[in-house]
Amino acid sequence: MKKMTITKRISVTMRGFSILKQYCPGLAQGKAMYELINSIQPFVSIWFTAQIVNEISSQRRLKTILLYVLGAVLINFICALLKSIINHVCNEKESQMWSWFGKVFSDKQISLDFVDLENAAIQHQRQEAEENLYMFGNGLAQLFWGISALVRTLVYIVISLVMTVSLFISTSGNRFIDHPIWIGIILVCIAVGGLSKSKATISENDVFMEYCKNTVWFNRVFMFFGKELYMNPEKAKDVRIYSQNTVAEKMLDKLISHERDNQSDITKMALYPAIAQIIIGLANAVCYLFVAIKALFGAFGVGSIVQYVAVLSRLGEGLQELMYILSDNEVYCTHLQNLFEYLDLPNHMYQGSLTVEKRDDNEYYVEFRDVSFKYPNTDTYVLMHVNLKFKVGEKLAVVGMNGSGKTTFIKLMCRLYDPTEGEILLNGVNIKKYDYNEYMSIFSVVFQDFRLFSFSLGQNVSASASYDREKVIECLKKAGFAERLNSLPNDLDTFLYKDIDAEGVEISGGEAQKLALARALYKNTPFIILDEPTAALDPISEYEVYSKFNEIAGTKTSIYISHRLASCRFCDKIAVFHEGEIIQIGIHEELLADRRGKYYELWNAQAQYYTT
Ligand code: ADP
Repeated sequence: MKKMTITKRISVTMRGFSILKQYCPGLAQGKAMYELINSIQPFVSIWFTAQIVNEISSQRRLKTILLYVLGAVLINFICALLKSIINHVCNEKESQMWSWFGKVFSDKQISLDFVDLENAAIQHQRQEAEENLYMFGNGLAQLFWGISALVRTLVYIVISLVMTVSLFISTSGNRFIDHPIWIGIILVCIAVGGLSKSKATISENDVFMEYCKNTVWFNRVFMFFGKELYMNPEKAKDVRIYSQNTVAEKMLDKLISHERDNQSDITKMALYPAIAQIIIGLANAVCYLFVAIKALFGAFGVGSIVQYVAVLSRLGEGLQELMYILSDNEVYCTHLQNLFEYLDLPNHMYQGSLTVEKRDDNEYYVEFRDVSFKYPNTDTYVLMHVNLKFKVGEKLAVVGMNGSGKTTFIKLMCRLYDPTEGEILLNGVNIKKYDYNEYMSIFSVVFQDFRLFSFSLGQNVSASASYDREKVIECLKKAGFAERLNSLPNDLDTFLYKDIDAEGVEISGGEAQKLALARALYKNTPFIILDEPTAALDPISEYEVYSKFNEIAGTKTSIYISHRLASCRFCDKIAVFHEGEIIQIGIHEELLADRRGKYYELWNAQAQYYTT
């Protein structure tokens, strides 16, 4: 694995902290503050204990001893109080931390160009960055977990160094013991302990990183089986009927036995730390021996032995932990780097700034001017030289066989994609020049594969947390949902599905389609587009939607995609798509009069189907 430079690691770490600050404000600071108090506290006890032992072994003044005891108790009490307050505040934030990490991804995902949502390479990149969420919190959790260690270490090192100074300053009268070379020897011993720990940690991490690389695939497969195959009720039907779980279990068995084969590295992970521990033990022994000998020669009292032994071991631990932190930092910087690469994906779609003109005369028109289009990363044109102009208020029907490009035509009009060639104009201006969100706001679309969400019925229809109840009810009635609405337990506040509310209701495909229609009506935009709006409806509901379509669409420009040509007869204009081209355009009677035309062929094919 390629090593990151120190400057890169610093900038990655700093950016990680700024994301933590943005999504979980106060959490990192709270953790740091807690640890600062927590790690200073033992030194306070060490110092007071040393003073008390020194006093007992020398002058034995009761008042002084009591003062030390009182000081120690008071400071420990204040520390404990502060710690529990901070802990209380931080705990709640920490329990929400994982959800916020998820939001880092959802925020990026929603800001991506729509075209990138279908780009396999980009989604793979997201998946890779997201995959280490549970083990490492995408590096963000590791960064957070590391705060305690970092603060503790810095405190240990600084305070230990300060408290060790007097060890070297105090003299015993013995030239050998007081020789400054001992400063060097003791520091070398501590450094050797720290370095051996670092060596062990690096080798541990190398094995671990290799293991992580292997587990990415393992996690992906495991998550697919666990979450998708077994938990998703839609898939559960097929899993049960076709016993797909046996295939899944075989694959998992294979993966698990492969994982077991990789466990030989564990020996390596265990051996190095054990050797490091022996070296650290020897180094500590030299330090403690020096302190004991210096005390024997009378450089300081018995109490100070306690202090020096404790601070030297804290100094050693601090250095060892610092080495560990540096090496751990390398691991989470790699994860953070994956995350940042995904977060830094740019938006390529041109973002215009024009506002969509609000015209009193309602004279809007949309024009496709020689538009051709192929989906990103594909070679085949799915739309070719499409030319079409229609005015606001017109009702356009788009018909054609499956795969002829009807839905793609709509996606281009709503600017989910930009044309590969040609241009689309709104009132003579290329739609790219309009402010993207404002342009999107003039369309209501019921896509064939529309989705409703596990919010309340009212929130689903209004697409908003607070809404106009009367208006929602009116739209539901228009969409043919009135009867079902009356049977719902909590009226508009009834939740759809059971993800959020256990009392939520399940709805049929036809009912869902009516709700999607009501949602499009509630948005009340100049354009309403229905892509196969009746596919899941029963014949009676279908008839209702057809017969009320003029009322539903009102004065809006409506575009209506349907396989059922009978339902398109009422439209002002019918465009016949075939293999990505508009091959006929006109009103029903005109198109039907052309006996060699596609429309005539489709019409007769359907008529025949219905009669047989
Ligand atoms: P229709 O709505 O007429 O059934 P579509 O516009 O959905 O047709 O599809 C037209 C062609 O574009 C089809 O060949 C389809 O396979 C292809 N297509 C649709 N969506 C995508 C996509 N996201 N990526 C690549 N090809 C696509």
